[in-house]
Amino acid sequence: MATATKSLKKQGSDLAQSNKQLEILSNGIFQNGELPTFKTKISETSQFPLKAKKLEILQINVGYMCNQVCDHCHVDAGPDRKEIMTRDTMRQCLEVIKNTGAHTLDLTGGAPEMNPDFRWFVEEAAKAGIKDFIVRSNLTIIRANKKYYDLPEFFKKHNIHVVSSMPHWTRGKTDKQRGDGVFDKSIKALQELNAVGYGMPGSDLRLDLVYNPSGAFLPGDQAAMEKDFKKALMEDFGIEFHNLFAITNLPIARFLDFLIASENYEDYMYSLVEAYNPAAVENVMCTNTISISWDGYLFDCDFNQMLELPVNSKSKHISEFNEELLEGRNIVISQHCYGCTAGAGSSCQGVVA
Ligand code: SF4
Ligand code: SF4
Repeated sequence: MATATKSLKKQGSDLAQSNKQLEILSNGIFQNGELPTFKTKISETSQFPLKAKKLEILQINVGYMCNQVCDHCHVDAGPDRKEIMTRDTMRQCLEVIKNTGAHTLDLTGGAPEMNPDFRWFVEEAAKAGIKDFIVRSNLTIIRANKKYYDLPEFFKKHNIHVVSSMPHWTRGKTDKQRGDGVFDKSIKALQELNAVGYGMPGSDLRLDLVYNPSGAFLPGDQAAMEKDFKKALMEDFGIEFHNLFAITNLPIARFLDFLIASENYEDYMYSLVEAYNPAAVENVMCTNTISISWDGYLFDCDFNQMLELPVNSKSKHISEFNEELLEGRNIVISQHCYGCTAGAGSSCQGVVA
């Protein structure tokens, strides 16, 4: 069973510190040359420095608070995390959303719905008419408390594209990774999303699921897994959804803690390096995304945000957002990036190559 009830930060773990994580990722097998660093690897195919292209996706992390404490969480989120985006920072984000050329807005957390200004922000942001407005919902939040029961209707009203984690179609595997009772609540939430039209064949109300492995291994083939998920969820619970994204766990925060505690860190890094696919490098999410933290700072991706690796640009905060300056910036990389280029690649959007 998922055993953690507190974030690494609350536990006072060394690994809650980003510099400690970066130290681990830079030392040992990467320092002694057993494995090539990510920089060396992408240099082999002349892909260093990795450059940002045109901005297409704004990903906003509205806070690290979550109703769950999943074993693999790269955010180290949990009920004890207090970092929450204020309405003032949201206003600065809205200015950028109105003026950007990005076609996708992606709200994440923690559980973004737990930010007290979440609904206000969604209502305001939806007015900008961004083509694809994603909310990453962990599903159980919809069943966590009466005040969230109407979320499916709320999402529908604002034509939100719901992207939800669902580690497996069986209770055992899901609860092991995400905590007791998560599977049943997730199933109920999916049925409620279906009931308002989400995920139905031909429906414009998009409902996608995200799978990530529950241990120190890489995800299998995305298309085959989607087929298996669809069959099982339909047969067992009558649930429909659109696409499944298979995501590789990146070796940071709680997943890094798990790898070290289970003595799997080195083997896992070997598997990531062995599965390195230069074709996936071209389309990793940092090349067309800006990630904004709860306090308004800009990062190449949500993973770099958690490692506190800010963008390599003069435009560092939402208050001084400058799309021209950000375009063409050198992406900040480290060994965790191998997680985005293994096999068919992954980042936050599923297969990229
Ligand atoms: S993985 Fe998602 S649902 Fe689980 S603790 Fe992290 S933010 Fe919350
Ligand atoms: S971890 Fe972030 S910076 Fe590194 S390749 Fe993935 S998306 Fe890009």
